Amino acid sequence: MSQSRRGFALILSAPSGAGKSTLARHLMAADDQVMLSVSTTTRGPRPGEANGVDYWFEAVESFQQAVEQGRFLEWAEVFGNYYGTSADKVLEGLQEGKIVLLDIDWQGAQQVRRNMDQSGAAGDHVSVFIAPPSKTVLHDRLAGRKTDSEEVIAKRMAAAAAEMSHWGEYDYVIINDDLEAAKAELIAIVQAERLKKSRMAPVMDAMMSDFDQ
Ligand code: 5GP
Repeated sequence: MSQSRRGFALILSAPSGAGKSTLARHLMAADDQVMLSVSTTTRGPRPGEANGVDYWFEAVESFQQAVEQGRFLEWAEVFGNYYGTSADKVLEGLQEGKIVLLDIDWQGAQQVRRNMDQSGAAGDHVSVFIAPPSKTVLHDRLAGRKTDSEEVIAKRMAAAAAEMSHWGEYDYVIINDDLEAAKAELIAIVQAERLKKSRMAPVMDAMMSDFDQ
């Protein structure tokens, strides 16, 4: 195909414990047109996390500098740490026709929608909210991690309630009850979105210029 389809930013948000990272990883493995936007954070790396793979780990001062220089498409404070999405990297991906996956919270999602809508940038956005089947299941999943204290779990449950209250701002909602079903649902959303006529227009315009001759 000589002319590529238009890309879009794929925003994924969920309360901690809803299975968002697993779904994001699965989507990237299943679809080579999906690229992850690696966020910058001021929190320290967890065991197994690598700089430039999971996050770009930075000091608060350099994060603030990047904010002042307008280098983030969005940024927010989550659980007492700062997180931000590099504007350059997202635009680069969109210009290549990629689906740029943004694993960000509701605050970031609101900013991306607003900023992309205002700038009329290289592409547009699709947002998916991933919910747990119930509050009880979410609590059991968070407690089941065993890495966090009761106090941390209680804090995460409060943060989860706050994140959940924003579900209605998203284009799609996946309830992650059965992981295999949720994986298939996320792939179905991406497949349908990329076939929208607005995204197929570059391909069809090129084809039609042949037909018109
Ligand atoms: P964690 O520290 O557990 O990796 O992530 C905590 C939360 O921060 C998650 O909900 C994640 O989606 C969110 N997050 C990660 N990167 C970004 C970012 O660049 N911007 C925003 N707004 N949230 C982020």
